Amino acid sequence: MRTIFSKIIAGEIPGDIVYRDDLVTAFRDINPQAPTHILIVPNKEIPTADDVEAADEAALGRMLLAAKQIAREQGIAESGYRLIINCREHGGQEVYHLHMHLLGGRRLGPMLSSAQ
Ligand code: AMP
Repeated sequence: MRTIFSKIIAGEIPGDIVYRDDLVTAFRDINPQAPTHILIVPNKEIPTADDVEAADEAALGRMLLAAKQIAREQGIAESGYRLIINCREHGGQEVYHLHMHLLGGRRLGPMLSSAQ
């Protein structure tokens, strides 16, 4: 089954796309946790960070380069931002199509919630 992110990348369902190239696509998170909350997603459907392979190296590197460019375009590069990849159940992953969260536009506080 294709993921909801693959359908956004293919243009089959709407997404607020802010960046697209041959390897990755980025769009605004539907439930933003910060003033800027963008998901950077490889066009190839890799389920989790634990499923990456050597052949994915270019796409993985491009995710970081895209994050840098988008942060500049969104005006948050200088103030700073956080990049997060959740992996599987304990990582809190909800959508099983690898993605990196780009969060910024306010002070983000401690890296982890104190809730156990
Ligand atoms: P994660 O918990 O790391 O798997 O994050 C999944 C993220 O995808 C959540 O922050 C959701 O708000 C976001 N999300 C789910 N469906 C959509 C959608 N259709 N468009 C944009 N973001 C979405």
